Amino acid sequence: NGPSPILSEAGPVMIIGSTGFIGRFVTEACIDSGRLTYLLVRSRGLTSPPASKSSVLNSFKEKGANIIHGSINDQDFMVKVLREYGIEVVISAVGGESTNDQLTLVEAIRAAGTVKRFLPSEFGHDIDRADPVEPGLRMYNEKRQVRRAIEKGGIPYTYICCNSIAAWPYHDNTHPSEVLPPLDQLNIYGDGSVKAYFVAGSDIGKFTIKAMDDVRTLNKTLHFQPPNNLLNMNDLASLWEKKIGRSIPRVTITEDDLLDAAGEMRIPASVVAALTHDIFIKGCQINYLMDKATDIEACSLYPETPFTSIDECFNGFVAKIVENQKLVNKQQAAGNNNGIIIPNRKQEALAIATCS
Ligand code: NDP
Repeated sequence: NGPSPILSEAGPVMIIGSTGFIGRFVTEACIDSGRLTYLLVRSRGLTSPPASKSSVLNSFKEKGANIIHGSINDQDFMVKVLREYGIEVVISAVGGESTNDQLTLVEAIRAAGTVKRFLPSEFGHDIDRADPVEPGLRMYNEKRQVRRAIEKGGIPYTYICCNSIAAWPYHDNTHPSEVLPPLDQLNIYGDGSVKAYFVAGSDIGKFTIKAMDDVRTLNKTLHFQPPNNLLNMNDLASLWEKKIGRSIPRVTITEDDLLDAAGEMRIPASVVAALTHDIFIKGCQINYLMDKATDIEACSLYPETPFTSIDECFNGFVAKIVENQKLVNKQQAAGNNNGIIIPNRKQEALAIATCS
């Protein structure tokens, strides 16, 4: 197909994991920024990718992204493509189970010699500071290993610590913003008083792309700490109740409940339980000072660019509920609901009945 016609003075960017949860936000923002964007997509042999991933890739292609088929596990291949396309920025958004695969990628980046900045798959907490229980710790140890390999290899880097994605923080779901906040029961972790930063997915993408070759973020850890989006579970529950116009029973999930869920070692749900414990019981997003020379904060770096508020994000969830309800009504009017899946159907009907 040849490279995209999008021209940019800055060098080409390669994104790994563009079909994933976080990768989609990053890819969207990269394409929107006008940078020449290459997406490394795993080949599946004779199996075709799920329809949702194919349609995501097609929309990225239509917007001008270039697809390269391959895997980061193949070091020689990676060296070859990095050189061939003159890739200057590599952003990895591989999932937790593929963290270790990045060690081969680091070697390839080192050998290729074209890359001026590498952003490994982080997109969470400062893993050198936070200390979750297992199995969260295992994932952090793997991410730490990747950091050490980058630093040892002298590869220029930026670590993105974007904190929590703006959504209801389900303790058993790795992709919480893909699920609507609850309409029947609000689980509150501990006494609900420990605060966390909630960042819209689109902002995770936007600020990652702003930072990817900013000279001020070179060899730094970039923390996303928008002060207006610092909320505890009680605040979040009240905000959601306000949005849907009614109150919902609150149920306490104790520290022991979270530790039990983590201890079940069901991957990935137990990893999420371990991190939920670290955030909402131990306060891992707020219990440290920004006192390292490598720390830098996104709001102070980009004061001209506001973060989307959690209020706006929750408005988006309400809009989705209303949209889904309209679909249900339409199907019911047509006396047919074959072929269309309505998520959380029972719960949404419950909400609309009381908030409209
Ligand atoms: P996903 O599992 O949703 O997506 C992973 C992506 O990486 C997929 O596109 C997958 O491709 C691709 N991939 C995996 N292995 C390879 C490989 N060897 N070669 C090429 N591509 C590969 O990941 P998430 O978005 O959940 O996680 C990304 C990062 O974000 C993680 O570091 C995670 O910890 C963090 N995260 C942060 C959250 C937050 O709230 N702050 C929430 C969720 C994640 P394929 O389509 O072929 O499978």
